[in-house]
Amino acid sequence: MTEAYARYRERMSEIQALNSALSLLSWDQETLMPPRGLASRSTTRAALAGLVHDRATDPALGALLEGLAGTGQDAAAAANVRESLRDYRRAVRVPRDLVTELAETTTLAQQAWAEARTRNEWPLFAPLLGRIVGLKRREAEALGYRDEPYDALLDEYEPGARAADLARIFAEVRTALVPLVEAARRDPADRGEDLLRGGLPVAGQDALGRHILKDLGFDLEGGRLDLSAHPFSTQIAPGDVRLTTHYDADDLQKSLYSTIHEAGHGMYEQGLPADQVGLPLGEAVSLGVHESQSRLWENQIGRSRAFMSYLLPLLRRHFPGRFDGVAPEQLDRAVNVVRPSAIRIEADEVTYTLHIVLRMELERALLRGEIDVADLPSLWNERMRADLGVVPADDAEGVLQDIHWSFGLFGYFPTYALGNLYAAELHLAAKRDLPGLDDEVARGDFLPLLTWLRERIHRHGRELAPRELVHAATGREPGAGPYLDYLRAKFGALYAV
Ligand code: ZN
Repeated sequence: MTEAYARYRERMSEIQALNSALSLLSWDQETLMPPRGLASRSTTRAALAGLVHDRATDPALGALLEGLAGTGQDAAAAANVRESLRDYRRAVRVPRDLVTELAETTTLAQQAWAEARTRNEWPLFAPLLGRIVGLKRREAEALGYRDEPYDALLDEYEPGARAADLARIFAEVRTALVPLVEAARRDPADRGEDLLRGGLPVAGQDALGRHILKDLGFDLEGGRLDLSAHPFSTQIAPGDVRLTTHYDADDLQKSLYSTIHEAGHGMYEQGLPADQVGLPLGEAVSLGVHESQSRLWENQIGRSRAFMSYLLPLLRRHFPGRFDGVAPEQLDRAVNVVRPSAIRIEADEVTYTLHIVLRMELERALLRGEIDVADLPSLWNERMRADLGVVPADDAEGVLQDIHWSFGLFGYFPTYALGNLYAAELHLAAKRDLPGLDDEVARGDFLPLLTWLRERIHRHGRELAPRELVHAATGREPGAGPYLDYLRAKFGALYAV
């Protein structure tokens, strides 16, 4: 290791230490902090975030990285330098006054959004959203792009992705899914969802969740499960990955599937190379790939027929008497219901991606100046009717439902849909490489799949661009095919369509 590379590592480990403290403060804020701690916590976090920003944009770091680039280190060091230089250049392109203005405007917008949603008054939020769109356009110009402003924003969450490519894939998805949703809507059969509803004590749900976490391979010696209003996962540092879930005694599916989903995120973090902590090779490659890990465990595995054979004995153990006489097929039907909803976070596997396609198209059109913020409510509702056959009761349930835009998160939504697509790609390839996968899942042996994911995805960090990583893992160019085939096969059988 050269002396310059050692200095680079030292700088990065300082940034890592600050980020680690920030993550712990954020985790604490969502789980344990009393409400009156909010004001001072915000100040502390802003101060730490400022330190991170100063260090990450320090010209001395830039000079060090420019000097290191292309100096013939080993492949790992070269990848770290390449990615750090990419991050550095991105960070310094956005002028400080724009960063400050975005921070101030989004703080106001978050308050306005919360009030607008509570009171169902879109005009309270619209002017601030208009300002945010203007600022995001300026940000895109500062960052630079080849084809369109949206690409510059997308690149933050999904490096190398391009809006035109995604739009083409998503159009294919939409064309295929809308008729599937329509057919499912016409089948009013009782899906037996009551099986997992009502009178399911939280203590049993918690024991079940921990049991499943352990079986899946989430390391509870290197992680925790706690409670928060909205489930999430976060890595504080190697050996300390935090998951949260949310219990509802009337609905087992909520905690069951949010725990499995977050475990998928957490196992990705636990599988990143610990010796590269604070460096790009120790980081997740993109939000889309991150989401593919959570979705694969939640849906392709957790909602599979094979998983029901594993799950049923556990349900009997943790809820004595409740599941006597229930067959795995009944569970399979109950956890795989297609029911269009106006609300994204309540969406099932088939309708979820349609919610995302709608959001991405609106964001892209806003950034290009083709539509105006004022048009959003009506465009939103028209599209919901066309794609899902539902119209939101009001704006609170429609265009105001998501918090993301108030944070200035444009280009973020598509990563959810990419996660669904990548999950199907990876599952298909894993099944090819692991012919006994279904039997292993049925008997609760998840290690072969986890090992496969560790090998193909986790251990690589940011070595390759996200799309190339998935390509290398599966041996095929990622697209919509496996995802659509998976949904057609599964829901075709369950709904006889
Ligand atoms: Zn997720």
